[in-house]
Amino acid sequence: MTDILVYSEKHDIARELAFKGKEFAAALGLSLSAAVLGAGAGDKAAELGALGADRVFVSDDPALEGLQTDVVAEALAQIAREAGASYVLLGSTRRGKELAPRLAQKLGAGCVTDANAVSLVDGALLASRYAFGGATLAQEAVDTPTKVFAVMPKAFEVGTPTAGAGSVVTPALSLAPSAVKVVDRRPKEGQSVDLSAAERIVGIGRGIGKREDVSMGEELARALGAELGATKGLADFQWVSEDRIIGLSGAKTSPELYLAVGISGQIQHTVGISSAKLIAAVNKDKDAPIFQLADYGIVGDIYQVVPALLEKLKAL
Ligand SMILES: Cc1cc2nc3c(=O)[nH]c(=O)nc-3n(C[C@H](O)[C@H](O)[C@H](O)COP(=O)(O)OP(=O)(O)OC[C@H]3O[C@@H](n4cnc5c(N)ncnc54)[C@H](O)[C@@H]3O)c2cc1C
Repeated sequence: MTDILVYSEKHDIARELAFKGKEFAAALGLSLSAAVLGAGAGDKAAELGALGADRVFVSDDPALEGLQTDVVAEALAQIAREAGASYVLLGSTRRGKELAPRLAQKLGAGCVTDANAVSLVDGALLASRYAFGGATLAQEAVDTPTKVFAVMPKAFEVGTPTAGAGSVVTPALSLAPSAVKVVDRRPKEGQSVDLSAAERIVGIGRGIGKREDVSMGEELARALGAELGATKGLADFQWVSEDRIIGLSGAKTSPELYLAVGISGQIQHTVGISSAKLIAAVNKDKDAPIFQLADYGIVGDIYQVVPALLEKLKAL
């Protein structure tokens, strides 16, 4: 088996995997393949080729409509066999986390999901991920001939495309329609937010004393052009929606700026901000653990500091 195969239903993540996959493939003496599936797949093939894929497997087979995970797993299994893949790198998105074990079962492969990094050690790829509730990082090796890793978004940066075009392959897939029948689609109530893609985030915690004071965090987020994130505590109170949770049970983020407002900095929260470029924190307790992680800290009451910050921001 001589190939690394990369796939994500999210094109941005597929780009990250293709760019880093090229580096791994070169170091391991393997080739790199990418798969693009579903309607409009052909349009994305060239970019993945330019980012490093030697071959881009493209299919818009009608059974792939809606990219149901059972059909995508079967399609990728057939492509992985054709490519001779020893590694399959997927995006650890909500769908990717379901896809990885389904695909691994079909390939008789070992599987790791939620990898926050993949590294090359002694001629093999190892995955690292949080263990013991986020208190430590475990490095995990897989020893089956084929290995499936689902990697979290933004684990790898995308550099300038330097590779050639890559050849487009149209695999002859044999796919049955999905066992899942979609009977209805309804938009989610309330605004949904994708914190994993946010450039700036204001995170609020239980230092916010009353539900109506969530608006103070929202105002600060607006003034900074940031998204609002929160600790699980505030979502448990139902003061913010669950998609605002950052951490072990929520989003893993990597913003340019994370401003923690009234957040203690428990590990289950901070695993979700460890890739932030710059962390600033406001907390009235000078010994709060968040200050060990923060690049800048203000020891003070958020009810005094946030209005003062807003005033300064408005004056800019
Ligand atoms: C299995 C498991 C999974 C979990 N997953 C997550 C997760 O994904 N995300 C998450 O966030 N949590 C998660 N938690 C919960 C986590 O352990 C913490 O309880 C939570 O992150 C703490 O939230 P907090 O910082 O808002 O509250 P607290 O820990 O209560 O801290 C509040 C902070 O606000 C400060 N403060 C209070 N008033 C003011 C004021 N007026 N001005 C300034 N500062 C003030 C206090 O000094 C304190 O530091 C999880 C827990 C478990 C067991």
